[in-house]
Amino acid sequence: MKYLLVLAVVFVAIWLWRKGRRDEMRARPPPPAPPPAVGPPQAMVRCAYCGLHLPASDAIAGPGGPYCTIEHRHAAGH
Ligand SMILES: [Zn+2]
Repeated sequence: MKYLLVLAVVFVAIWLWRKGRRDEMRARPPPPAPPPAVGPPQAMVRCAYCGLHLPASDAIAGPGGPYCTIEHRHAAGH
């Protein structure tokens, strides 16, 4: 009878321990979301003079196409 009581106490202790662990896992915050991509993908254009790739927002538009610098636009003869 004494052993049965000890066994019961041990069983309850294990049950409480497992229950506590389960609660602990549930309380844990969810894993952090992956970092967002650095800005939206930008359209790249190629300089009509030297072939350099640059963002469309930085390109200088010319009659012959986009240019990387105003100098290249002039150098292209436009
Ligand atoms: Zn260029």
